[in-house]
Amino acid sequence: MKIDDLRKSSNVEDRRGESGRSFGGNGGAGFPILQLLFMRGGWKTKLLVLLILLALGGGGLSGIFNGSQTSNHYQSTNVSQQSDSQATKEQIEFVSKVLGSTEDFWTKEFEKEGLDAYQDPKLVLYTDSIQTACGQGQASMGPFYCSGDKKVYLDISFYNDLGNKYGAKGDFAMAYVIAHEIGHHIQTKLGTMAKYNQDRQSLSEKEANALNVRLELQADYYAGAWAHYVQGQGILDKGDFEEAMTAANAVGDDTLQKQAYGYSVPDSFTHGTSEQRQHWFQRGYQYGDIEHGDTFSTTNP
Ligand SMILES: [Zn+2]
Repeated sequence: MKIDDLRKSSNVEDRRGESGRSFGGNGGAGFPILQLLFMRGGWKTKLLVLLILLALGGGGLSGIFNGSQTSNHYQSTNVSQQSDSQATKEQIEFVSKVLGSTEDFWTKEFEKEGLDAYQDPKLVLYTDSIQTACGQGQASMGPFYCSGDKKVYLDISFYNDLGNKYGAKGDFAMAYVIAHEIGHHIQTKLGTMAKYNQDRQSLSEKEANALNVRLELQADYYAGAWAHYVQGQGILDKGDFEEAMTAANAVGDDTLQKQAYGYSVPDSFTHGTSEQRQHWFQRGYQYGDIEHGDTFSTTNP
């Protein structure tokens, strides 16, 4: 991707020096269970609220893949005491420019659709672990979006992992990941995320997983829609589209589970198969709009 003429987003929050393990939220959204202890009302009320919080727990946290099946190999590093390598600087600059480009695209798209003005999400850079409005985030989960505070969370070491650990090399593989997380922000702005959180309450685990797959495939579609936009700007390099397709393949539930366990369990899928993820990214790339991305109404996404 040719990024020389792209502007950097002003919405990157660098919080890599922070320890994310302390409760009480240094700049984070606080810890709801603790707040619960101080609220008024009898124990039944508190128990009810606690159960609701537990039921919602992590519900607003949407990653690029199901991180629970990946091992946590991240080492703690004290980033505040070391300066970034040239490679890391370039990776952060790239992410920042991709973010800026998604802001330009979705601002235009929302205007075109006559929607309320698009509001940019923040992208938080962190290391290892961080407190968010959706609970504790871990780098082992991969990049994720929290609808509770409307922020994308990224440990920049994932950029290298994507190529080395998941076999999805190239800058546009990373661009797809960022654009996918922004896709969850679009779902939040359009009300899709709220409806999803409502609907899943009454579903069995198997049904909730299937609904989650539709949510994730739509985020892949929106990533493809953004890719259509940058293709139109003439800034894609030869092979960029294939890099994104390789990444979409790498983060498919069937592929990840087969790598981890040697087999896959379709009922447990939360993000879709490699084939589904590639299909919806490709469809977004083809149409470049919001309308063709309804993964919820289609019988077989
Ligand atoms: Zn996702």
